[in-house]
Amino acid sequence: MVHNPYHNAVKQLEEAAVLLEPMYEDKKKFHAIVEQLKTPNAVHEAQLVVKMDDGSTQKFQAYRSQHDDVRGPYKGGIRYHHDVNLDEVKALSLWMTWKCATTGIPYGGAKGGIIVDPSKLTHNELERLSRAYAKFVAPYIGTWRDVPAPDVNTNGQIMAWMLDEYESIIGKHEPAVFTGKPLELGGSLGREEATGQGGVYVLEQLAKKLKMVPSKTSIAIQGLGNVGYWFAVCAADMGFLVVALSDSRGGIVSNDMKKGLDVKKVLAYKKEKGSIQGFSGTRDITNDELLSLPVDILVPAALENVITDENVKNIRAKAIIEMANGPVTPEADGMLWERGIFSVPDVLSNAGGVTVSYFEWVQNLHGYSWSKEEVFKKLKPLMVDAFNHMWSLHTTRKVHLRMATYIGAVKRVVDAHILRGR
Ligand code: NAD
Repeated sequence: MVHNPYHNAVKQLEEAAVLLEPMYEDKKKFHAIVEQLKTPNAVHEAQLVVKMDDGSTQKFQAYRSQHDDVRGPYKGGIRYHHDVNLDEVKALSLWMTWKCATTGIPYGGAKGGIIVDPSKLTHNELERLSRAYAKFVAPYIGTWRDVPAPDVNTNGQIMAWMLDEYESIIGKHEPAVFTGKPLELGGSLGREEATGQGGVYVLEQLAKKLKMVPSKTSIAIQGLGNVGYWFAVCAADMGFLVVALSDSRGGIVSNDMKKGLDVKKVLAYKKEKGSIQGFSGTRDITNDELLSLPVDILVPAALENVITDENVKNIRAKAIIEMANGPVTPEADGMLWERGIFSVPDVLSNAGGVTVSYFEWVQNLHGYSWSKEEVFKKLKPLMVDAFNHMWSLHTTRKVHLRMATYIGAVKRVVDAHILRGR
């Protein structure tokens, strides 16, 4: 089945609205707000004209979708990928609104993207493209208006170029306008680990609810990039058993499922050999096999749409923590719920990244620089509160965890609209 992410995002909002409607006296106002939330407030598009190293020029289609800013400035990353399209950018901007509302950070939702395969550009071409994007969005962004960040295939260096371009346009320093910056330019300590660490705070809470003891809880993780690696390291530090890992080349599973893998050693092995396969004490598996292992917790931390209506019947984990964006399709989500498999949704479990981006913004506004310990001390209660809020809605409203999260987030946004009288 082909998934249009924007249609999925609107469908999820409509489902949450059905459950929320009885709570509002003024139904007309409630429905008007929900209608408004189905489309972004603004979608900016441009063809960026970039000079290539050979002297020719190329055009690149670029977008910035600003969904809703009723709770605070728009917030969301910028993606460089050849599959970027308008519906994807719009859907991701809706999900950012719910993600920020879920942890309670004072932002709305936005997303940006450029249709480009960055691996085909030289360093200088990438810089010119990034500066052209910053120039295009400069009239629409700002510390109190819209705060972009890195996403797929963008990083601290790209944020540094964009910040420099933006500041040269406005003629003053304004570091809080971009997050995910290098430390030297006002980035936050702990941002690298933040998404994985935030997911492990969620894991700890889920394990308590499901009465799982860390030293006896087995975990399989798909993806060993920023998110998967730090999730694995932090989970192992907490005493959980990380028994299987994978990357785009395939995976490994421990020969003894009662013994966890040494994740740091696996990564060192990958750096030396180019693949994690062949690591001692393990056997090689495919990514499909990893998804169907009989573990306690399955963590998709690589790609979207990896658990679908086609392979959901193979899932043998007791619970799923979505660390990638959109790894479970809506059809599969319903089927997991029917089978009694808990699935913590991405807008909650990977919200540690945007939360530490918010901390970066706060530090920039005040000229502070917090230690890593301070950052994590502030991150943990936000993730734990968000989890508990979701769990209480799940138990009182008897809905699956994604719907519980959506009800909580959409309600916060609708209530903010009502208070403003928009
Ligand atoms: P990354 O590029 O650092 O790592 C991606 C990992 O996925 C790599 O290990 C890669 O080998 C693996 N992979 C690629 N194709 C695969 C395949 N077909 N099968 C199995 N593994 C495959 O990316 P990341 O920053 O770790 O992000 C991963 C996911 O988490 C994405 O969906 C991203 O949108 C989401 N996310 C990231 C952050 C963040 O802070 N980095 C925050 C929120 C959500």
